[in-house]
Formats: sequence, C-alpha cells, structure tokens
Amino acid sequence: MIISIDDTDSREGMCTTYLCALLMDELKEYGNIKGCPILIRLNPTIPYKTRGNASTAFEITTSEPVKVMEHVISRVNELAQLQSEMTNPGVVFISDEHSEKVKEQLGEFFLKAVREVLQIEDAKSLIATLGLHSKGWKNGRGLIGALAACGAMLNLGWDHTYEYLAYREKDAWGTKRQVDEDSVRKADIATYPNTWDTVDIANNAVVCIPHAGDPVLFGVRGNGIEPVTITSQMISSEPVERHAIYMTDQGTDLHLIPVERIADIKEMHSYSIEVTVSTCPETIRGGHTILSVRDDGGDEMDCAAYEPTKNFRELVRKFLPGDRMVFSGSVKNNTLNIEKLKIISLVQEHESVNPTCSECGKKMKSAGKGQGYRCKKCGTKADSAELVEIERGIPIGMYEVPPCARRHLAKPLARCQEKESKKDGKVFPSR
Ligand code: ATP
Repeated sequence: MIISIDDTDSREGMCTTYLCALLMDELKEYGNIKGCPILIRLNPTIPYKTRGNASTAFEITTSEPVKVMEHVISRVNELAQLQSEMTNPGVVFISDEHSEKVKEQLGEFFLKAVREVLQIEDAKSLIATLGLHSKGWKNGRGLIGALAACGAMLNLGWDHTYEYLAYREKDAWGTKRQVDEDSVRKADIATYPNTWDTVDIANNAVVCIPHAGDPVLFGVRGNGIEPVTITSQMISSEPVERHAIYMTDQGTDLHLIPVERIADIKEMHSYSIEVTVSTCPETIRGGHTILSVRDDGGDEMDCAAYEPTKNFRELVRKFLPGDRMVFSGSVKNNTLNIEKLKIISLVQEHESVNPTCSECGKKMKSAGKGQGYRCKKCGTKADSAELVEIERGIPIGMYEVPPCARRHLAKPLARCQEKESKKDGKVFPSR
C-alpha cells in the first residue's frame, strides 16, 4: 500500500517529512516498509506553500490495511498544525490491487502538480473517479500534493536525487540548532560534487541547516544514498531523534517547461526560454537587477536576478543588448526570476583608440582637431581612430545562482557538468 501525506505543517512548527519519517517507524508494527520514501517538490510558485511545497509518500507491505489507515489518520489528526489557517492536510492510500489501474492518470497528475496550478476540486474529483481511499482536513488542499506523491511513487522513472534529513529531539524544537559548522564544512568537502548545497563557499554560509521552528536539524542533498549518508554522519550536532533518506525530484529541473515564445508564458509557471537581451540591466532599490529580453517574434518581458541571488547579479549586470541567452526560472508578476542561464553568444563591443604606428608599434598622438593622428617619432600618419574589441570578460557557458538562493527543484550545475561538457558549451557551477 502507498501512503502519501501533505500540508501538515505551519510556519510555527511540524514538517510533513518528519511526520512521514515518524509514521514509517510507527507502522513497522503492522508490516514492512518497502524501499525509499519519496519527497517531491511541487510547483514552487504556489502561494499556499509553507516553505518548499513538498509532499511525501512511502510504501508498506501489510496484511492489516485498515489498521494502517486508521493509524495514519489519527496521527495526522493529532500532529498536523490544524489550528493554522494555512494548514489543510490530505492523505491518500493506494492499495496494491488499485495501483496498476491508477498509475498512468496519477503520473500525469504528478507532473501537472510540479508544473501547473491545480484546484482542490481537481484532486477531489480524480480521487472520486479512481475510487481511492483518502482523507482531507479543512479545505483538503493537501490532497493535491498527496495525490501527486502517489503518482510519483507509482511512476519512478523520473530523474531523481536523494536527501538525508536528520530530525531534532522534540524538546529542542523551536530552540537554536546546535550543529558544529566546522564539521559541516569538512563533511561537505568529503563528498562534493556528489553532494551539494551543504555549504555555500562564495557566500561563506552553511546552507543545510534550516532556521525555522520545525523538527529538521539538517538536510544533505546528493546524487546517491551513500554520499548523503557519509556526509551526514560526519556532522557533529545535538542528538538526532531519527533520520530518513528520501528519493526526491529536488535538483532535477522537473519544473521547467521549454518554451519558444514569450506569448506562451503564463504566470506561476517555470520556463526555459532562448531570448535576446534588449535593455541594459538596471539595479533597482533593494539590489534587484532587472533586464528586458526579446523573443524571436519581437515580444518582450522582464527577467530578474533578485537580491538574494547575491554574486550572481554581478554576472547579469555585465549583459548587453544583443546578447543571446537561455534563461530558466519561474514567472511571477510578468517577470522571470532567473535561476540558471546559458550564454549562447555575446555581442562584440568596440571602443575607438588612437591608432598604432606601423613603424615603431607605439600609439600615435592626435595631430590637432580634425587633422587625424601622427607618430611623433616616425612621422607616420592616420586619418582616423582605430576600433578595437572590448574584452567582455564572460566565458560562454552555463551559470547558476549560488546555493544560498537555489530553488529546491533547480538542477545544480554540479549535476550537469558531465553531460554538458560533452556538448560545445562550458558549465560554470557556482562553486
Ligand atoms: P509541508 O512541509 O507541510 O508540505 P510546504 O511548504 O511543502 O509544507 P504545504 O504546507 O504542503 O507546503 O502547502 C502547499 C499546498 O499547495 C498543499 O496543500 C499542496 O497540496 C498544494 N499544492 C501543491 N502543488 C500544487 C499545485 N501545483 N497547484 C495547486 N496547489 C498545489
């Protein structure tokens, strides 16, 4: 049986992944947990999210399905932050007999939940059509994420990574996390680039430790169970109550929809689009850098490197009208929030300088207003200045925001290196 849970936490406490880990331990009484639990990130632009729009699912082999469902429902009832207006939990159960029949439709629902904006009714009517066991609390919005997690679990072909999540003892929730940052830095070096986003070197920040009141102590992301485990076990910290390793769509770019025309872009969706820069980047109040881009049909839109993207803005500020790029990111308020970019070509910029003497190789001097140039030593003359190319100082290739600004779903360039280096372009991971 697949069990999926979503929307149980609030900004004040709890975390759906913690509830998932807790239930996996508690349910051992009724059967065996099969394989890895999954942690999927859904459309990152959804305003109802508490933090990262996550949803979870796991699979259990059991001869007591009714008891399992009762246990899950009673624990969600007890532990979800139901008092919070934003918390609308949902759980979905898929029995083994049902799974083949519902696989395809739920797989499509999963992809839609990552890329599109769904309504609560979409989930409720699919649950009714497919005859699934489920329970929604309050408005039941969590059923969207829960149904999507079932779809992901039933269709494991998607690109995936792993995250090792360590959880705090209950008494420590809401207090300052005690983690030895030096041990985190050493642990990070031991497995990078097979793990990533543990430490942001350029911005000198440990990024694997959250700051809110939730039960997560730290999370280590990587491309396999082994590297995330090695790194996590090297971290010295306060006692860990429990941990779980999730298979996840984090770091896969699954949210990005390739598109050619700006006219096809919709709010609250995420895209990859090839465009030409049409204005010089401007840095506005708050430190956000904005520039306009044009597609091949002449339509324009704004793209932004917001302040939290830190040093990434220095790159974007160097762009010039005419530069050709692929920008990737989510669209909100008609602006694409750049997560990653690929430089296709850069315009050549020229400046005029005094000509060089063909005899001695030195720069000529002005011979007076309107009289061209002359070499004082050799007497050589030139009518006009020389045009020389200005070095743009930006190698062609792919660039990304630093770990401190990375969206959960964004694929780190550390993961793209091998594939991309086989093509023409170079890859410049933020580290
Ligand atoms: P949690 O740890 O509780 O999962 P979170 O930051 O992941 O916190 P949620 O509290 O789950 O966010 O809130 C996100 C809500 O948005 C959930 O109810 C989920 O079902 C819903 N949701 C997810 N994806 C979509 C989508 N594509 N369209 C509409 N609603 C969505």
